Amino acid sequence: MSRLTRVSQQEMKERITVGFEKHFGPLGDGHVYFAPGRVNLIGEHTDYNGGHVFPCALTIGTYAAVRRRTDRKLRFFSMNFPRNGVYESALDELIPSPRFGWTNYPKGVVKIFGDHGYPVENGFDMVIYGNIPNGSGLSSSAALEVVTAVMLCDQYGFEIDGKQIALLCQESENTYNGMNCGIMDQFTVAMGREDHAIFLDTAKLSYEYVPIRLKDASIIIANTNKKHHLRDSKYNDRRKECEKALADLSKVIQISSLGDLSCEEFEEYKGAIEDPVCRRRAKHAVYENRRTVDAVRLLKQGKLGAFGKLMREAHLSVSRDYEVTGIELDTLAEAAWRVPGCIGSRMTGGGFGGCTVSIVRNDSIPEFMGRVGRAYRKKIGYQADFYTVKIGGGPQIL
Ligand code: ADP
Ligand code: MG
Repeated sequence: MSRLTRVSQQEMKERITVGFEKHFGPLGDGHVYFAPGRVNLIGEHTDYNGGHVFPCALTIGTYAAVRRRTDRKLRFFSMNFPRNGVYESALDELIPSPRFGWTNYPKGVVKIFGDHGYPVENGFDMVIYGNIPNGSGLSSSAALEVVTAVMLCDQYGFEIDGKQIALLCQESENTYNGMNCGIMDQFTVAMGREDHAIFLDTAKLSYEYVPIRLKDASIIIANTNKKHHLRDSKYNDRRKECEKALADLSKVIQISSLGDLSCEEFEEYKGAIEDPVCRRRAKHAVYENRRTVDAVRLLKQGKLGAFGKLMREAHLSVSRDYEVTGIELDTLAEAAWRVPGCIGSRMTGGGFGGCTVSIVRNDSIPEFMGRVGRAYRKKIGYQADFYTVKIGGGPQIL
């Protein structure tokens, strides 16, 4: 998969078209669609706490080649999971089940579209091919949902804006796939803009595109390659812990989310949170929100070094207070901080494996990958992968 991240969009389009023909015949009046992966620069686990996030879409992403059918059948094939073969289902069978594997993501979106007054009457044949490292915290799931949504709008004539697409896809992931994620992933994937990060207030869904001009530096993703089976359930646990903290705090101060609290208010009222674990979770949510707002302000002032320092603080907070990192992510981040040309580094995404994001000076990239890679292999026993990524735009019809 690491070599796939360097394949151009044109080449991906050609490969998926060939893949479609092989499994389902000529694409005919069908199309190829694209939705990007995303990386969050700062603001982790704040999106379901009414706080701010600062993610950007990537040029790597998920492609879908789709042709409508005249009956109600649905057929799916993923070129990333060829051994799973073709999944056959129908529009009358939109019920999540492990036997439908990854197709629960696109099927969930079809179901939610129907629930919201966008009925899909005829089925389709869909081939998926992506170059987002799978399950690595770069939101291949949101890309798969959003590419499905954009396809449905185009093929079935629905007019739905990007924000609404994000909300429908989040609902699909929450209710159909049992992952209680916030809005960040789907919003970034649906609303990305080239060379910009999105400063998003997840309580109001108000947002601002902030240009990312790194000049002589690049964004480097390091993948732990850890297989993280328990991630979704632990993620849902964190969400519950924050809800508990919010319920306790609501007895002493009127707030509707942890994102409503300033750090000073948190310090004043934190005693109301009975469970010390929940108190630490809430502390992260409140301070991370402040860090994100500060980081964006500093970046706009051109203070990249100060932005990098906040990335490090953000990592320490998810490691110590929120406890979603683990030895793999901590090893990558700590090794990165020791490389002089590394401006900032932290884990990105839900955690428990997945990736770190680092901002590294271009002339230090080989040293960075060498030193961090060696430290990781020595401590963890297997290899980390590195990708230099570019900030891309939102979904496309190719
Ligand atoms: P991520 O951090 O990448 O979003 P998730 O665990 O949320 O990780 O989503 C990964 C899941 O999404 C995969 O296990 C698979 O079910 C589905 N998925 C993502 N990309 C593809 C793809 N190209 N083909 C088929 N399924 C995919
Ligand atoms: Mg996901």
